[in-house]
Amino acid sequence: MTAAVTAAVIDGKAVAAELLREVQARAAVCTARGATPGLAVVLVGDDPASQVYVRSKERRAAEVGVQTRDHRLPASTDTQTLLALVADLNADPGIDGILVQLPLPRQVDSTAVLRAIDPAKDVDGFHPDNLGLLMLGTPRFVACTPQGCMRLLAAAKVELAGKHALVVGRSTIVGKPMAQLLMHADATVTISHSRTVDLAAEVARAEVLVAAIGRPEHIQGSWIRPGAVVIDVGMNRLEGGRLVGDVAYAAAAERASAITPVPGGVGPMTIACLLSNVVDAAERRAGSR
Ligand code: NDP
Repeated sequence: MTAAVTAAVIDGKAVAAELLREVQARAAVCTARGATPGLAVVLVGDDPASQVYVRSKERRAAEVGVQTRDHRLPASTDTQTLLALVADLNADPGIDGILVQLPLPRQVDSTAVLRAIDPAKDVDGFHPDNLGLLMLGTPRFVACTPQGCMRLLAAAKVELAGKHALVVGRSTIVGKPMAQLLMHADATVTISHSRTVDLAAEVARAEVLVAAIGRPEHIQGSWIRPGAVVIDVGMNRLEGGRLVGDVAYAAAAERASAITPVPGGVGPMTIACLLSNVVDAAERRAGSR
C-alpha cells in the first residue's frame, strides 16, 4: 500500500502579509511625494457580508498607509445618485481608486455604475477597458482575486508554462480573468462551468486547478490528478458557520502536491491585491510609475 501524499499548504496569510509590507513601503514613498494613496469605498445598503468586507478592507488600508474615504448610502439609493457620486470621485484628484462594493441593490443598474468609473481609478479591474487590456496581454488593473491566485502560484514556485490548467467557473470577476492570466503565463487553459458535461474528467487532467464555483466541496478529492496544484477560491459558509472551499480539502490534500486552505488561502490575497492596485494608481499620480 502506498502512503497518502500530503500536499504542501500554500499559506495565503503569509504571502499576503509580505505583499502588504511591500505595499506599505510604496505607499510611504507616494505620501512623501505628496500623493498619499486614496481609496473611495462606496457601500450601498446594509448587507451584513458587504459591511464585513468593507470594514476589513478599510482596516487593512489604514495599516498600510492608504487613506480611505467612506461613502455609505441607503438601500433605496437610485442609479442616478450613484452615477453622480462616481462622477465626483472620478474628478477628485485625491482619489486614486474607487471601490463600489457589490452586490448593489436590485433597483440600481450595476453595469452602468461600474462602467462609469474612470478606468484609471478602477482598482477592482472590472471596467471593460481594463478587462480588454488584460485580454490583450497589456494589463493595467487586474481583478484582485485572480491576481492573488497568480501571486500564490508564483510564491509556491509553480511552473505554469506548458501545464494543463483548469479554471472551474467563468465569472467576470474571477474565472474569466483567471483563465486569461494563466494563458498569458503560457499554460494550456480549459474553462469549465455549470454546463460542463464531465467535470470529474476535466479535473483529472488538470496539473493546475483553480476552483471558483461557490459550491461547498463540490470538487471531490478523488478527482484530483496526483501531484496537481490546487487553488481554491470558493468561500462557502455552512450552516453552523464553518467556512469551506469548493474543493474537498482533506481528500484533495492527499493527492495534490500543493493546495490553498480555506480560510487562509486566496481570501487574504484579494484585499492585499486591491491595496496594491491603489498604490499602483497613486504611483502614476506621483510620477514614479
Ligand atoms: P459566480 O456565481 O459569479 O460564478 C460561479 C461560476 O461557477 C459560474 O461560472 C458557474 O457556471 C460555475 N458553476 C456553478 N455550478 C457549477 C458546477 N456544478 N460545475 C461547474 N461549474 C459550476 O461566482 P464568483 O466567481 O463570484 O465566485 C465563485 C466563488 O469564489 C464563490 O464561492 C465566492 O464566494 C468565491 N470568491 C472568493 C473570493 C475571495 O476573495 N476568496 C472573491 C470572489 C469570489 P455558469 O457560468 O454556467 O453559471
